Amino acid sequence: MNYDFDLFVIGAGSGGVRASRFAAGFGAKVAVAESRYLGGTCVNVGCVPKKLMVYGAHVSEELEQARGFGWSVHEAHFDWSTLIANKDREIQRLNGVYRNLLVNSGVTLLEGHAQLVDAHTVEVNGQRYRAAHILIAVGGWPQVPDIPGREWITTSNEVFYLPEQPARVLVVGGGYIAVEFASIFQGLGSQTTLLYRGERFLRGFDDAVREHLEQELRRKGMDVQFESDIARIDRQVDGSLRATLRDGRTLEADCVFYATGRRPMLDNLNLDAAGVALNERGFIAVDEHYRTSTPSILAIGDVIGRVQLTPVALAEGMAVARQLFRPQEYRAVDYRMIPTAVFSLPNIATVGLTEQQALEQEHRIQVFESRFRPMKLTLGDLQERTLMKLIVDAEDDRVLGCHMVGPEAGEIVQGLAVAMKAGATKAIFDETIGIHPTAAEEFVTLRTPRAN
Ligand code: FAD
Ligand code: NDP
Repeated sequence: MNYDFDLFVIGAGSGGVRASRFAAGFGAKVAVAESRYLGGTCVNVGCVPKKLMVYGAHVSEELEQARGFGWSVHEAHFDWSTLIANKDREIQRLNGVYRNLLVNSGVTLLEGHAQLVDAHTVEVNGQRYRAAHILIAVGGWPQVPDIPGREWITTSNEVFYLPEQPARVLVVGGGYIAVEFASIFQGLGSQTTLLYRGERFLRGFDDAVREHLEQELRRKGMDVQFESDIARIDRQVDGSLRATLRDGRTLEADCVFYATGRRPMLDNLNLDAAGVALNERGFIAVDEHYRTSTPSILAIGDVIGRVQLTPVALAEGMAVARQLFRPQEYRAVDYRMIPTAVFSLPNIATVGLTEQQALEQEHRIQVFESRFRPMKLTLGDLQERTLMKLIVDAEDDRVLGCHMVGPEAGEIVQGLAVAMKAGATKAIFDETIGIHPTAAEEFVTLRTPRAN
């Protein structure tokens, strides 16, 4: 068969760029098509701009802390448009970095929307390309419920470009994005209400973490409302929005931000033409080697709906490149012990099992927990507390789960994830000498298991 490319990648996001670069590095002839922005969701409307805004939001607390150390800060003023403009400049720089990465690795970059024609053919900008393998790495898209007034909803696609800071924000949802943006808005000074339809947000996280974050957000003055859901949204004559809740209450705001999950971005991809099937959740169905129902077509990242995190998409992209072009180095991605952080203020980070999962899996467990006021805050008025929690298998002493809510939780738990991946026992944690004085040392000085 005569092909134009060994590998044709659809989507230059986290997974697609990684797969393209590695495949080209292994000597394959590679093309990647991108319809919107180089670097995908993470770089343009995800991890990166989000984290920059979280840093921006935390400054308000740092200014507050400064007073305790003797600094007087006069007339602090936050300017939304400066933050957005600086953020945009950084994203543009990163777009350029991604372009160079691709071009310098010898990947052919095609800017346009790609559509499948058959099992080996992709069309971009009216031109058809034949490839031995096609990789679908098209990511996801925000999903909002179909309620009256949904046209007034802001999603994570738009929130990074709002021309003005909303004075009052309703944040709807109880997942990563909702909690992170509620913290961003609250930290930047918007009057923020978080509405979640269930009993408590962050379903799937350890209960102690969920409770702790709820208390901390309330302590900061955020209006957190559980078992609350919006039935309709109306725009009023003054341009503000009125949300009517299912229980009949009404709330007014300048921005109603929804973070109610993400669907796979399959628009005009023409999966049927190539015989690519979806799974029962509507994501692209793949086997353990990322093969779809059409063997020449593979899929990775958010579009397969497994774990929607950038480092996971990167690992999957690398696995596909190796599998196709360096099979002797191919190892399947290990989905156990994936560490993750929620960049709320304070941050959450976690790796391994929650207490509930450990019990469901019939481990006999010991739980070690510590709650304390970080040393950095002791000279000031902020009352924020940190939570650290380890779940240990009482039979073989292995640390099964590690959870933290507190400053720099992601930075701390990343290192612990290495230890846990290596199968560290609690005895090894105990033998590890702490770095003093840090908050992180608490993880190696937890001596007494919680009663019960
Ligand atoms: P994407 O990065 O979404 O890339 C897909 C690319 O395909 C896009 O550039 C898209 O334009 C392109 N595309 C789609 N259809 C076509 C087509 N037909 N033709 C051509 N191109 C096409 N993860 C973390 O690990 N940490 C975080 O802090 C974090 N924060 C996030 C914050 C937000 C607000 C959001 C929305 C997500 C966040 N994520 C985070 C998740 C992370 O962004 C995704 O898991 C990751 O980007 C998935 O990578 P991907 O390669 O599957 O898809
Ligand atoms: P999530 O799937 O994490 O959360 C969606 C939330 O919306 C849940 O609380 C869900 O409630 C709620 N919800 C769903 N449908 C409705 C509805 N119709 N009405 C009201 N509420 C609803 O999605 P996100 O959008 O927050 O984020 C998508 C993914 O992106 C994350 O799961 C994560 O993998 C990734 N991400 C990672 C980040 C990080 O690593 N720091 C940051 C941001 C995103 P319920 O629990 O009741 O189902």
